[in-house]
Amino acid sequence: MIKYCSIASGSNGNCYYVGTKSEGVLVDVGLTAKQIFLRMAELHIELNHIKAIFISHEHADHMKGVRVFVKKTGIPVYFSKKTFENAWNPFRPLNYRLFTPGDIIQIGDIQVHTFKKNHDASDPCSFRIESNGKSIGVFTDIGEPCDNVTAHFAQCHSAFFESNYDEEMLWAGKYPYHLKKRVASNVGHLSNKQAFDFVSQIASVEFKHLILSHLSGENNTHEKVLSCFEPLSGRFGIDIASRSGVSEMFEL
Ligand SMILES: [Zn+2]
Ligand SMILES: [Zn+2]
Repeated sequence: MIKYCSIASGSNGNCYYVGTKSEGVLVDVGLTAKQIFLRMAELHIELNHIKAIFISHEHADHMKGVRVFVKKTGIPVYFSKKTFENAWNPFRPLNYRLFTPGDIIQIGDIQVHTFKKNHDASDPCSFRIESNGKSIGVFTDIGEPCDNVTAHFAQCHSAFFESNYDEEMLWAGKYPYHLKKRVASNVGHLSNKQAFDFVSQIASVEFKHLILSHLSGENNTHEKVLSCFEPLSGRFGIDIASRSGVSEMFEL
């Protein structure tokens, strides 16, 4: 059995949990350590159950709280070398471990598959977390799906997958033009339509549950996302990770 949930999701902070009975991992620590501790308590996740943390890239919404979190808990945190070197110094933990994208890191009975993706960071990575033949993907901050995202999504039974913005809302919205262009570029974020087209083509018959994640607060709504993905609701379960609080604890 594998459990998973969103502790935080969106440009205001990201943190995702995947775990088995014996251990768990976190992907990203993008809120303050204090907020993550509170939210973990709300979800009944014990700190000593977390055996490793993986950081996807150096943007603040993915690593803002990691230095304090690691200082207080001593939990090992993994970065790619370039991500660590390009992170803002006050965010960097004093103790860390390095991986090379493509590495598979064994954490107890969990395998964390690390891989590179397209996003405007120094060495953006995502993770497919596997245990006992079941895989959960944590795939956010994707400019456009590359072969790696495609190959790993195709092996997932469940995934957090970015559905960042509604295209009309972005272009009609109040972001400055350069920011609109950055979000929509192939190293920015996925729109609802891009996410829908990708998932409808790549999800396998084994795929059971999609959690749409990293929604924009400015350029998207739950209603837009749900109506876009409605045609897939007969194939698998669909949920949305909230920007303001935790999700429920899901189980596969
Ligand atoms: Zn982000
Ligand atoms: Zn980012």
